[in-house]
Amino acid sequence: MDEPNAVPVIGLEIHAQVLTRSKAFCGCSTAVADAPNAHTCPVCLGHPGALPVLNAAVLRAAVLLGRALGSDIHPRSAFARKHYFYPDLPKGYQITQHREPVCTGGTMAFVGSDGTEHDIRLERIHMEEDAARLLHRGDASLADYNRAGIPLLEIVTTPAFTSAADAAAFMRELRRVLVYCGICDGSMERGSLRCDANVSLRRTDGSPGTRTEIKNMNSFRAVERALNWEIARQRALLKGGKAVASATLLWDEDAGEARIMRGKESSADYHYMPEPDLPPAVVTQEHIDAADASIPELPLARQRRFLEKYALPALDAEVLTAERSIADYFEDVVRHLTAARTDSDAGAVETGMRTVPAKFASNWIMGEVLRGMREAGLSSPPVEAARLAELLRCIGDGTVSGSAAKRVLAAMAESNNAPEEIIDRLGLRLLRDDDTLRAQVREVLNAHPKQCAAFYAGKEKLLGFFVGQVMQRSGGSADPKRAAILLREALSRHGDEDANASSPSGKGES
Ligand code: ZN
Ligand code: MN
Repeated sequence: MDEPNAVPVIGLEIHAQVLTRSKAFCGCSTAVADAPNAHTCPVCLGHPGALPVLNAAVLRAAVLLGRALGSDIHPRSAFARKHYFYPDLPKGYQITQHREPVCTGGTMAFVGSDGTEHDIRLERIHMEEDAARLLHRGDASLADYNRAGIPLLEIVTTPAFTSAADAAAFMRELRRVLVYCGICDGSMERGSLRCDANVSLRRTDGSPGTRTEIKNMNSFRAVERALNWEIARQRALLKGGKAVASATLLWDEDAGEARIMRGKESSADYHYMPEPDLPPAVVTQEHIDAADASIPELPLARQRRFLEKYALPALDAEVLTAERSIADYFEDVVRHLTAARTDSDAGAVETGMRTVPAKFASNWIMGEVLRGMREAGLSSPPVEAARLAELLRCIGDGTVSGSAAKRVLAAMAESNNAPEEIIDRLGLRLLRDDDTLRAQVREVLNAHPKQCAAFYAGKEKLLGFFVGQVMQRSGGSADPKRAAILLREALSRHGDEDANASSPSGKGES
């Protein structure tokens, strides 16, 4: 039964917390991080006789995601009770959708580990409620029911993945889609996005293997590690002539291994039954139209557009579209820069900005802006798009050097003042007053006759030396590009004067 070529077959079940103000079936707040049990009521605590009412925002989110991914949206979908006994479930059952989910089918594209795009078919998307959170402290277990009744969308894929890396890449893409659509905050650390997977190995003769389920993967990295671990475990079993037993496993990220939570004998039988307290969820044409009107450009499409429209390198397009807010910010900055270009002053020095504004903006956002956000723990850029564009313009027209602009950006983040104001306050304005610059150029040339002579003899590299001298003389405020231009001018004139001046001595020698 050695099956070294058995192909992994992986399907994912993803739970996404819907961004709503109130819970799925009651009016309690969804601020789960507040004091434990601050947000509970008879409905989400499962008191007898309390009646659930579906939060319309949850249905809207389900329809939006379904429309974005091309699912079939069912005009009527039903709720069911999924029974099990555990302290995190005060009613003794979870309200979920079973036989009649709100969405079935649909596809989502993602870039696989081979670098090409794959389409993954979805099984279904359904609405359900979350369970409470249990905290285990030594011998005691504490229950926080803030999370009980939090609305979730469960997205189930077909078992279409053949590698752990692809499954993780899909998860990352789905996270982007959910965040772009404003459905979920996408935080795996905070538990707003969770992933379970089922794994089996299809044998070389095509016969399917026994599936196991793996749970508790709390990061994209954990998804990949856990799946690879389970694939290796199943391979080893087959290789040793043993069978894979149906089981549910819990991934332990610290240990880097999974533990068997329950085997087949104890596999849960949830005794699903229709939920008698909730009418079917009804999706109208208005729901569909509203969803269609609010579907954003999906992240992968936007990434492709960034490559083509702005001619950005692949890495830039990927980094800039990782978050919708950053992609929006980038396009805002480019829009401001492009507008600035049309009324640009003639004769301004040639800069990168004028030839490739998109890449110029991308460099600054990927570098300074994102780094600043990371370091300060911000979720949005520290300066407005229009302000960053103004600063980039200042670099472009030689008002400030690129390196000094980093200091200006840091100061802008604190004051939100205009970059020009800060440039002046910090004394970073490059000297572009030609009369002053010309005087300094003359001083430098007069002070270095030997270097001038060498320059005329063909050592053109000395221009850099002269620029350095002008910079020094100006205390760093000279615009080096402008200085270079004036130096060249002066050197050609200076050269003529020099030739005249040296001619008498030349005569004297003859
Ligand atoms: Zn409640
Ligand atoms: Mn579920």
